[in-house]
Amino acid sequence: MTLETVQSYALDQWQSGDGDFQTITSAVTGDPMVKVSSKGLDFSAMVDHARSVGGPALRLMTFHERAAMLKGLGKALMERKEELYELNKATGATRNDGWIDIEGGAGTLFSIASKGKRELPNAKILLDGSLEGLSKHGTFVGQHIYTSLKGVAVQINAFNFPVWGMLEKLGPALLAGVPAIVKPASPTGYLAEAAVKIMIDSGLLPKGAVQLVSGSAGNLLDLLDGQDVVSFTGSAATASKLKSHPNIVAKSVRFIAEQDSLNASVLGPDATEDSEEFALFVKEVAREMTVKAGQKCTAIRRAFVPAALLDKAQDALIARLSKVAPGDPREESARMGALVSEAQRNDVVSKIETLSGEADIVFGSTDAPNIDGASGNAFVSPVLLRCNTPGQAEAIHSVEPFGPVATLMPYANLQEAIELCNRGEGSLVVSLFTMDTEAATEFIMGAGSYHGRVAIINRDCAKESTGHGSPLPVLIHGGPGRAGGGEEMGGVRGVKHYMQRTAVQGSPNMLSAITETWMIGSSYQADGPHPFRLKFGELNIGDTIETAERTITLEDIEHFADFTGDTFYAHMDEDAAAANPFFPGRVAHGYLILSFAAGLFVDPAPGPVLANYGLENLRFLAPVSPGETIKVRLTAKSKKARNPEYGEVMWDVEVTRADGAAVATYSLLTMNAM
Ligand code: NAP
Repeated sequence: MTLETVQSYALDQWQSGDGDFQTITSAVTGDPMVKVSSKGLDFSAMVDHARSVGGPALRLMTFHERAAMLKGLGKALMERKEELYELNKATGATRNDGWIDIEGGAGTLFSIASKGKRELPNAKILLDGSLEGLSKHGTFVGQHIYTSLKGVAVQINAFNFPVWGMLEKLGPALLAGVPAIVKPASPTGYLAEAAVKIMIDSGLLPKGAVQLVSGSAGNLLDLLDGQDVVSFTGSAATASKLKSHPNIVAKSVRFIAEQDSLNASVLGPDATEDSEEFALFVKEVAREMTVKAGQKCTAIRRAFVPAALLDKAQDALIARLSKVAPGDPREESARMGALVSEAQRNDVVSKIETLSGEADIVFGSTDAPNIDGASGNAFVSPVLLRCNTPGQAEAIHSVEPFGPVATLMPYANLQEAIELCNRGEGSLVVSLFTMDTEAATEFIMGAGSYHGRVAIINRDCAKESTGHGSPLPVLIHGGPGRAGGGEEMGGVRGVKHYMQRTAVQGSPNMLSAITETWMIGSSYQADGPHPFRLKFGELNIGDTIETAERTITLEDIEHFADFTGDTFYAHMDEDAAAANPFFPGRVAHGYLILSFAAGLFVDPAPGPVLANYGLENLRFLAPVSPGETIKVRLTAKSKKARNPEYGEVMWDVEVTRADGAAVATYSLLTMNAM
């Protein structure tokens, strides 16, 4: 039988390896399925193509254009998702496991795209923080900015989530304007290949933006430098080999590692056998053990309960696990599928044997289960171990069986639970099931720094909770120490891993021009038409209105107080106001100043300004006493197109008194027609 070849996509061409093939078998039947090899790929040309073609094309696009591209890629994957589900079966995964991988992957692209559209500018430079004044007269200032790296993102992925694992890295890199060379794990690389084909077929990707290595990574790491990023997911052993690669060290190549971790879950000290948290904990541990047959980097490997509840928790877990026998993942009814391969099964079995030196198997066994219709040797039953003396254990806190395996253990008090969780020396996630806010706070203080994510679950949030094991695109995924020390996703944070932060110094005018954002101290144009009369496309950054003056009288203050009901003493009681350290006597309400400011700068007739969208960074800086005058400067600071009809304009607003003192500063947001 001739096996199909899993192809690579290099230099915008699909390409098959030319020798040294590795045969990939079906997890379900054990039959040879496809063959894979990267022999013959010109890795140097691929890196060069990414740097010289893919990168420049992506960097011509703005964040918003790249976000729209990601959304389109997510849609393309969703439209053809059944093709992926079909291949998913051979990986041993159930339909439900596949949903996490395939639709979870597309959903991650949608989420990253939406963050890009909402939180990043429609520009190519990203500002970091605010302008820093560096000189007495404000002519020399500093601003941190991010620009796209000029290299390539080499993304090496684990076998367990071939689609999601690829997309959660690809999304942030492409949004940052950095092309990627994706290298999936060989055992499930055929599913990643199919997803890449769909994305390439969509026609949305510029040339050189995404390339695929099916098979080994060859000499890829030898070719990288400080403008490149390696983002690795896999075992701790492979991670340490790759991050100490001489060229990675010599060229200070950014290296993000997401590796295995001994994630824990703790039933809080307040739980009783009848509490909802007890039931929730048991359900979650059993679920985490069996989803994706336990081949999840975030799965619960260590479960800690108050010592008095150990037997009860064991009984309850066994009762749940008894209902989840492994089954043929091609059947819709299968609750748990197979491991990815016989080799993976052998690895899991040998790790269970290691753990058995410190713990007893109280449920399941390492015997191969008999699965109707599935002849492969990759199936394993869930295995629950119990260790009564976790403080003396070593392997339980350091050996990761990447399968449906967990160890149940007692703790005497919360401090001990914290110490035991931290024995994993850094994990991706830990969960705590408690209603006790003090215990949760103590737990966070003791365990927070050892874990990338802490899920605190109880009856208030369980129903809507995304659970212990789900990394979310808006939250960071990664963990310290043993977990790799890396961080991915986390909304816009993930994009910054592919960008360089630079402190730019110069004059306000220079920095405004570079960043396309008006900065305080820059020149502005106040002699044109009222900026509210300009359409989104006509408005220039720096367009300004300087208003006439308005005097605020005591009658105004009293009228405003009566009208709104805000009769705070600082506005109504001269003696009490004067006794306050901030006021000379009665002063105008801050909200009155804002209202009068709007009355001064607004151009009332219908026009391009569609709506007031809010204020940001409002500060009241100096009081206004009755009889004093105010005036306003309003300057177009930045613009973000939202859709073909309208866009968001941010205005820099400064309200000043007659003596020149700044009374209030803020950013005003409006929606303006195109
Ligand atoms: P792995 O054996 O470490 O392989 C991971 C990736 O590294 C694969 O793509 C593999 O390619 C590649 N690789 C291996 N040796 C390499 C080398 N010398 N140069 C370049 N690339 C190399 O891990 P796995 O078995 O695929 O995945 C299971 C492990 O991943 C588990 O330990 C799990 O905890 C961890 N994991 C962690 C996360 C996380 O986010 N932290 C997520 C998922 C999985 P080949 O397949 O072609 O060898």
